[in-house]
Amino acid sequence: MEKRVRVRFAPSPTGGLHMGGVRTALFNYLFAKRHGGDFILRIEDTDQTRFVEGAEEYIVAALKWCGIAPNEGVGFGDGPHKPYRQSERKELGIYQKYADQLILSGHAYYAFDTEEELETMRKKLEAAKVVAPQYNAVTRQNMRNSLTLPEDEVKKLLESGAKKVVRLKVPRNEEIRFEDIIRGWVVVNSSQVDDKVLLKSDGMPTYHLAHIVDDIEMKISHAVRGEEWLPSAPAHILIYRYLGLESEMPKLAHLPLILNPDGKGKISKRESRFPVFPLSWKDPREAEPFIGYKEAGYYPEAFVNILALLGWNPGNNQELFTVDEMAQIFDFERVNKSGAKFDPEKAKWFNQQYLRKKADQELADVFKPVLKEKGFERDNAFILEFCKLVKEKVQFVHEFWDQGKYVFIAPESYDEKVITKKWNEKSKETFGKVTEKFKSLNDWTIEAITKTFHDAEAETGKIDMQLLRVLTTGVAGGPQLFDMLALIGKDETIKRLDRALGKL
Ligand code: GLU
Repeated sequence: MEKRVRVRFAPSPTGGLHMGGVRTALFNYLFAKRHGGDFILRIEDTDQTRFVEGAEEYIVAALKWCGIAPNEGVGFGDGPHKPYRQSERKELGIYQKYADQLILSGHAYYAFDTEEELETMRKKLEAAKVVAPQYNAVTRQNMRNSLTLPEDEVKKLLESGAKKVVRLKVPRNEEIRFEDIIRGWVVVNSSQVDDKVLLKSDGMPTYHLAHIVDDIEMKISHAVRGEEWLPSAPAHILIYRYLGLESEMPKLAHLPLILNPDGKGKISKRESRFPVFPLSWKDPREAEPFIGYKEAGYYPEAFVNILALLGWNPGNNQELFTVDEMAQIFDFERVNKSGAKFDPEKAKWFNQQYLRKKADQELADVFKPVLKEKGFERDNAFILEFCKLVKEKVQFVHEFWDQGKYVFIAPESYDEKVITKKWNEKSKETFGKVTEKFKSLNDWTIEAITKTFHDAEAETGKIDMQLLRVLTTGVAGGPQLFDMLALIGKDETIKRLDRALGKL
């Protein structure tokens, strides 16, 4: 029988969750949803030296903002496998049992080496031109551990409470194979794998042991994580094997990296061209906060849509997806092996598409306080109409003001390029006529303005619309001009035209 789909997102609270982490959470979420399974949030906080205050709360808040809520786990309600924080699970002795089992079966051992001794070994190996010095089947023979020391000495050390770690005993020359859903079969020789520490001297398990124990106990069916964990996977296979749990092991999927726009290297949190974090993140160790997608004006739906297409290929040309739509077709078979280049311009485009889908009233409600702050008040119908027109020209809500401020403030200058190119000796007369005709209008509607403009053209010949735009708004482009003039109002439009004609 196929296992029930149970996936987990297992971040360490070592900092703010960046977009790569959110994508991992999203792919887990989509997969669980597709299969009617469970999605769990587990906090992997066994490395106390890297613990960062506020990181866990940030992770929970970020997932909530993105709308990819786990149905079990820290911050989202307890499930049958509580607690979901590894530090709390350690207190229950959950990991120790498994470490003891490995020691008993001869697949793990105690190592008593001090930091200095380890350093000396590293230096020696480096001097001997060993490329990646590691504690392994060869080097362990010259170190102080329960495999090299006499039995009674080991016993004495253990009884005296000497500092020790538990290490995995990786065989010397063995082929380790495993199948990754995204990468296919991976084959690694065990000589490439070091004797990983499983339990640290403070009694805490390392990630390697803890995640395996938890994945087994939490009945995880698929372990989906970033590519950076691929090199550790062979050691994990051995741990499962030595625990006799290979048949219960979750299927593995290692997601590709998210790369910089130039395709070189993975995105760094110090990136200045675009946000890297979903929400603004203030790291207590850093002076400056990092701006988030939310604060930069992105909609969560857009952000999630952008992330989904970083590495996942839906198999057709569709680009805009709701989470539900994605969840209907999401599959790891369609996730690429190679890194996914992030395109910040395309990200803005996505936001624009979602902005256009918003109800005008929703945009008006957001714009109203902005307008007030700028010192202007208008009734709802006016703001609604303004937003309806300007929304076609912006990618973010915060651009509404800049794109359409001339509706509220008369221009002080006129787009120079347009004036230099198009303003000629005939223009004054032409626009004088347009102004006169506008003055005689009783009814200042879009239709009336349009008709009047064409009436003027019937008399003067073709009139350059862009010039009319520059005279009345100061700028060379924008939403439908007559619609904007209707909003600006008759008296104000005429005042602006008279002023421009006086100046030019
Ligand atoms: N704690 C690991 C991390 O933060 C989790 C990796 C995994 O999902 O197994 O990357």
